[in-house]
Amino acid sequence: MKKIILTGDRPTGRLHVGHYAGSLKERVLLQNTGNYDEIYIMIADAQALTDNAEHPERVRQNIKEVALDYLACGIDPEKATIFIQSMVPELTELTFYYMNLVTVSRVQRNPTVKSEIKQRNFEASIPVGFFCYPISQAADITAFRATAVPVGEDQLPMLEQCKEIVHKFNSVYGETLTEPEIVLPSNSACLRLPGIDGKAKMSKSLGNCIYLSDEPEVIQEKIMSMFTDPTHLKVSDPGHVEGNPVFTYLDAFCKPEYFAEFLPEYQNLDELKEHYQRGGLGDMKVKRFLNHVMQTELAPIRERRQMWEQRLPEVYDILKAGSMSARETAAKTLADVRHAMQIDYFESKNLEM
Ligand code: ATP
Ligand code: MG
Repeated sequence: MKKIILTGDRPTGRLHVGHYAGSLKERVLLQNTGNYDEIYIMIADAQALTDNAEHPERVRQNIKEVALDYLACGIDPEKATIFIQSMVPELTELTFYYMNLVTVSRVQRNPTVKSEIKQRNFEASIPVGFFCYPISQAADITAFRATAVPVGEDQLPMLEQCKEIVHKFNSVYGETLTEPEIVLPSNSACLRLPGIDGKAKMSKSLGNCIYLSDEPEVIQEKIMSMFTDPTHLKVSDPGHVEGNPVFTYLDAFCKPEYFAEFLPEYQNLDELKEHYQRGGLGDMKVKRFLNHVMQTELAPIRERRQMWEQRLPEVYDILKAGSMSARETAAKTLADVRHAMQIDYFESKNLEM
């Protein structure tokens, strides 16, 4: 069986370090192993419209931003197909058929959907399209016969839903669709990176992000204003590292060599954490170190982004070619699906059937 990756992001803003830790970094690593036959990276504009229907200009503008962030992080258009979701209308048709295989109460139980409905204050006015986005995501994944989906932890319920649809489809219509596996980051700090405000998830919609494209001064300002341990008032107080986003970011981004370079009085992160927990280590010192770490990690990404910003026509050519090629693949799966569902009326030679 072919090894195929499908993953993507909503063009609701520029990408942030949570995306990088949770999914982008892993994608680039997987891409560069050469172990995958096909890699599809989708800019999910149709999904973004499910909660931005009145702001199409926002979605349109952010297609470019997300594409630039991809190229900046090292997604290589020679190795991966980058495409725009709505340019592959086969995905919409698949979604429509899959909707019949899922109950309303099943979607209502999805914990990520639940918390996003709360976060967006939808209450009694949930757009039907938004409610159905887990089903449309199953269409995206299965259209490309993805075997691996590298994403953050918030996507676990979507992958579960997708597998259920695959099983249901295959049991009703016969073996047709491929079951995907979620690929979570191996570093647990990257599963769901918190926001700089300490909230559980860094998210474009919550405005608590460090963006991959932030200027060095902005990154520094954001890090210096970060939420830490509210019980750590004086330098001498013992501090907590759990639930303290400054340490979570260090867990996610710090490499051992950064100590020799920026904080030689400590051997490693464990020593730094021990000192913080014991008391006697100030937040400012840890934040200054984190700033060095983040600046070092983000500088090459920002530079590559600036280079691609000068080549926008080429970026759009990449998206156009990617969308055309993705459409061909999705059309093949859709033909299989229509055949399995016996709605391929004009393909059959036997007119009695
Ligand atoms: P929105 O608020 O518009 O939903 P988002 O910031 O949640 O935006 P998505 O486009 O929904 O971003 O997510 C894209 C990918 O990035 C998914 O794989 C998701 O799991 C991952 N991701 C997003 N935020 C984080 C985070 N804070 N930590 C780890 N992974 C994340
Ligand atoms: Mg999201």
